Amino acid sequence: MTSSAFDIAILGAGPVGRVLALMLARVAPDPARIALLAGSAPAPVTPAAAVPAADPRVLAMNHGSRVLLESLHAWPERSADIRNIHVSQRGRLGRTLIQNTDFGVPQLGSVVAYSGLYAKLDECVAACGVSVLAGPPAQIGMQDADGVRIQQGDTEILCGVAVQSDGAGATDVRRDYDQHAVLTTAHATLPRRGWAWERFTSEGPLALLPHPQTPDAYSVVWCSAPDRAAELAALDNVAFSHALTQAFGDRLGRLTSHAPRHVFPLALSARRAQVHGRVAAIGNAAQTLHPVAGQGLNLGLRDAARLAQTLTGWLARPGANPGPALAEFASARHLDRFITAGLTDFMPRIFATGLAPVEHACGAALLGMDLASPMRAPLAQHLLQGFRA
Ligand SMILES: Cc1cc2nc3c(=O)[nH]c(=O)nc-3n(C[C@H](O)[C@H](O)[C@H](O)COP(=O)(O)OP(=O)(O)OC[C@H]3O[C@@H](n4cnc5c(N)ncnc54)[C@H](O)[C@@H]3O)c2cc1C
Repeated sequence: MTSSAFDIAILGAGPVGRVLALMLARVAPDPARIALLAGSAPAPVTPAAAVPAADPRVLAMNHGSRVLLESLHAWPERSADIRNIHVSQRGRLGRTLIQNTDFGVPQLGSVVAYSGLYAKLDECVAACGVSVLAGPPAQIGMQDADGVRIQQGDTEILCGVAVQSDGAGATDVRRDYDQHAVLTTAHATLPRRGWAWERFTSEGPLALLPHPQTPDAYSVVWCSAPDRAAELAALDNVAFSHALTQAFGDRLGRLTSHAPRHVFPLALSARRAQVHGRVAAIGNAAQTLHPVAGQGLNLGLRDAARLAQTLTGWLARPGANPGPALAEFASARHLDRFITAGLTDFMPRIFATGLAPVEHACGAALLGMDLASPMRAPLAQHLLQGFRA
């Protein structure tokens, strides 16, 4: 058994844990006293192709996340801009259009590949001076006035603050949507560069995002009941392309897809308290959201940014009680988490009630938002940057 001591240990080296490590490395008197516990051997540093490319996700990053990642020199080489977001409802009137010009920003957001972001963050973390500890999955143990004990294989780690960013363990609030997301790529006969589409259907939301690696292609996230998702995933390319065009409509002409399809189960799970003693949870470990409107990682990055900011003062005196700083963090994050989780929980359910009056009301709301920019602004502002305390 070996043991080591750190000021902060970050358990889980996904995108949120990595961004926190980069931010803390900038403000820590000694970055080596920040430990990043990777659940398995660290992925090789560049090239992108050597990174776990198995994850097929593309991620819509909002303007605020892009500014944050660029400030850390962690923005991936390839991305596709979103300048217009078109939100509509299949089979009902009403739509709303959110445009970058309404907010005076160059783009509302950008789409990156999960694998591309992972590779870039990996490269940055390797150069930032934090201690990356590869090994078997780590486990948080007892905490007392001396700190928190973490077990990683045969190694015991003592730290002043432990951050859980392992994407797991949020079980206080749970909703199973009984929906799975089918992910793939499609080409359109009438592509519109810089446009993203969110279409609510009675089966679930269907999103088409500009693809970061293939210009004129769209990344498709199609949510539906598990049986239907399995059926869609099993269709041949012609039948799938036809079903996709039917569900999406003709705004982009005819859609064709020859790419592999991947299926992700969808659920909401969240912790009520983000802090427990000296342990703070961020990213998916604090809340896992429905992917509608692409908010999960954006919210997780805001968790990481706020935690780094609140721990900066404590890092200068790591022998002190971190309780007040962590309490301030939890309080500052409460409203943003509540609103974002609420929005992403409400949207897929309200548009899929199957009740005509409710669906007409949703259509009217979209139409109202389209006509009245003061109504549209708060939604777009939140999707752009999230709530700032
Ligand atoms: C279909 C789909 C589409 C999405 N689209 C978007 C989008 O457009 N925009 C957006 O913002 N979000 C989107 N999301 C959400 C986004 O993918 C997640 O919010 C984000 O990946 C969470 O990052 P994380 O670092 O918190 O957790 P994770 O990505 O889950 O990373 C956790 C890491 O911790 C490691 N780990 C686990 N257990 C341990 C342990 N015991 N010890 C050490 N390490 C451990 C894991 O191996 C992993 O590397 C989407 C999600 C899905 C499913």
